Amino acid sequence: MGDERVEAMEIDGQQRQEVAAAVPDGFNADYLRIYYGKLFPYGDFFKWLAYGNDAKHPGCDQSYIGRRELSFTLENDIYLRFQSFDSAAELETSIKEKCPFKIDIGPVYSVDPAKRHAYAQSGNNVFVPVERELIFDIDISDYDDVRYCCSGADTCLDCWPLMTIVIKILDTSLRGDFGFNHILWVYSGRRGVHCWVCDSRARKLSNEQRSAIADYFRVYKGGENSLKKVSLTGPVLHPFLARSYTDVLKCFFEDKLLHSQQLFASEERCQKILELIPDENVASELHDKWQGNRRSSISKEDVNAARWEQLKTTLQSGKHKTQGLRRCVEEIVFSYTYPRLDMEVSKHMNHLLKAPFCIHPKTGRVCVPIDPNNCEDFDPTAVPTLSQLLGELNAAGMQIDSENDWERTSLEKYIRFFRTSFLQPMLKACKEELETAYSAKLQQSKNTLSW
Ligand SMILES: [Zn+2]
Repeated sequence: MGDERVEAMEIDGQQRQEVAAAVPDGFNADYLRIYYGKLFPYGDFFKWLAYGNDAKHPGCDQSYIGRRELSFTLENDIYLRFQSFDSAAELETSIKEKCPFKIDIGPVYSVDPAKRHAYAQSGNNVFVPVERELIFDIDISDYDDVRYCCSGADTCLDCWPLMTIVIKILDTSLRGDFGFNHILWVYSGRRGVHCWVCDSRARKLSNEQRSAIADYFRVYKGGENSLKKVSLTGPVLHPFLARSYTDVLKCFFEDKLLHSQQLFASEERCQKILELIPDENVASELHDKWQGNRRSSISKEDVNAARWEQLKTTLQSGKHKTQGLRRCVEEIVFSYTYPRLDMEVSKHMNHLLKAPFCIHPKTGRVCVPIDPNNCEDFDPTAVPTLSQLLGELNAAGMQIDSENDWERTSLEKYIRFFRTSFLQPMLKACKEELETAYSAKLQQSKNTLSW
């Protein structure tokens, strides 16, 4: 956007609404340039990735941040991998200059990734990833067989609860079962959520350890076309799965998805659920019952709840009290609700993942952090868009060049959340770790000297 146009849009605060509407929806280099010029939180972003190593403390690893790979996707899909930065100012200059349509974050390497060729020529294979947040990538398009409101990259408030479930289940387990504390959840801008586990213990995990953690969350067996995607084996559920079921999955299934997705509303949908019942006699008994009550007193609203109750009663009745069939109720709920992770992303240190506060080119929405403690309230359709933010900037008056332009836009609450709920406690922990490690090192050298 040229300066003339920016000026033309500057207008009195009273007319805020009209102005906000005056920036046409869209995603383009001109809009993005203003976003990177005025709103992108470089300082917080850099502080995050430095993990305390940008301080003056003698225990800091000054080379740390410069060994992190960022990759930029430019307009026209030009792809710049292995970008690295030594300071927030350097990062800011480069982003403003290159105006990336997408920024991805890679691992921290053994050496500066921008200088990898020099190291390669030295003959030693020293260019390897050494640290990386433990990450999870969840796409709602992987749930197309269990949602009927949208498909592919589309999402709405009827199917978004599937993502809320992911956050609740994973966040609780990563904290409770694995002891991680510094977890960042981010809206991917269109079709899902990303999770960044940033504890130093998580960043130092090997690929094997990452795979083990990813497998801990896996209940899906078989490929996309296998009928039965969930297999809950053993006489009792693993405590993590049992807790997930009673605390989250069951309620979301019965109170939300059953109705919002109309899971039993058609013959075809019923059939899909009946196929998850291993006993053919039981399945056909239910099928007959539902055929019978198709035009009975059950109103359209109640059909989902009524059929679900009938299914539960039948499967859990004394007549079918075998372990397999009782477990089947849980398997159905898991099939329709349990998190579906892109395992490969979590298993390998060198996977790239889109950075928070990027803008999604298709939706124009900012990849904002999500508060896991209030994830039920997160509404993807209410996330600020690029054009909305520019409208808000205009309404606030662009002539005042304040330090924090984002404070005058709806990006404010997201940046504040990032800073106070994620960044500050994490940096405090980093500082403590750094000081502990440093004084241990001093102590050690003192001990060595003293003899
Ligand atoms: Zn939907």
